[in-house]
Amino acid sequence: MLFYFKNSVIRIGPAGIPLSCKERTNVDGIIYTRCLGLSAIEIRLARGFISEGEAREIKRIAKKSGIETYVHAPYYINLAGDKRNVEMSKYKIAHSMELAHIMGARIMTTHLGFYKNLSKRETMKRIVKHLREIRDEMKKKGIEVPIGIETMGKKEVFGSLDEIIEVCKRVRGIIPTIDIAHIHARCNGCLKEKEDIQEIFNKLKELNLNHYLIHLTGVKYDKNGEIYHVPIKKSDLPVTKLMECILENDYDVTIISESPIVEHDAVYAQILLDRAMEMIK
Ligand SMILES: [Zn+2]
Repeated sequence: MLFYFKNSVIRIGPAGIPLSCKERTNVDGIIYTRCLGLSAIEIRLARGFISEGEAREIKRIAKKSGIETYVHAPYYINLAGDKRNVEMSKYKIAHSMELAHIMGARIMTTHLGFYKNLSKRETMKRIVKHLREIRDEMKKKGIEVPIGIETMGKKEVFGSLDEIIEVCKRVRGIIPTIDIAHIHARCNGCLKEKEDIQEIFNKLKELNLNHYLIHLTGVKYDKNGEIYHVPIKKSDLPVTKLMECILENDYDVTIISESPIVEHDAVYAQILLDRAMEMIK
């Protein structure tokens, strides 16, 4: 179901095929997602690329089902590494964009890379350069699916909120994928009050977005940031406050559940949103 609130539209859905969907295909996952009353899905290319034929089928079924599709590129990407790393990563991102284009996906999300022995500045420089090259090359092919770059939870990985905003400012066609649990983990659980969440959106303001893609899950963390994902209820992430913040500001958002109990937490997020709506109305 789509949530309409004032002028905003809110979609919620699972990352990948719902766990309780017996048939393990993306198409069945989309139908199942609709049956659960959800309205978006992230097609994950983590376990390997799908065929162009399957991508076309996904587009057809998703349209029929009223499910909006998003894509996640393979996880291991390093646009700041050595030549081999960069070439492989560029290919993974470019091919994910091609498939997202065929699927009619709204955003293609990717990770960016690691600092390893590089300075944060040098890492940023290389990532910006290579993202520009990918974008230009794809544009020539007529493929302009926005690349969503994800905020990352581990401190050794490139992708603090500030870094992600900086890259978005420097490369056109790039937007943030706001993984709220990763932001929370990276700052040792700094998201406590609604104001802390509002601060994230305030920082994003300069990008002039009219829609936000949010990744949601519970998370365990320590001084190095994210350790692993847990169900929302087992985490100290203030999800209700996130919902209130979205509603009070009338933001257009899509929330993708990356929780280990994927669709259960997507449905739970709908309940929390619904409850927040009742409180505000
Ligand atoms: Zn991710």
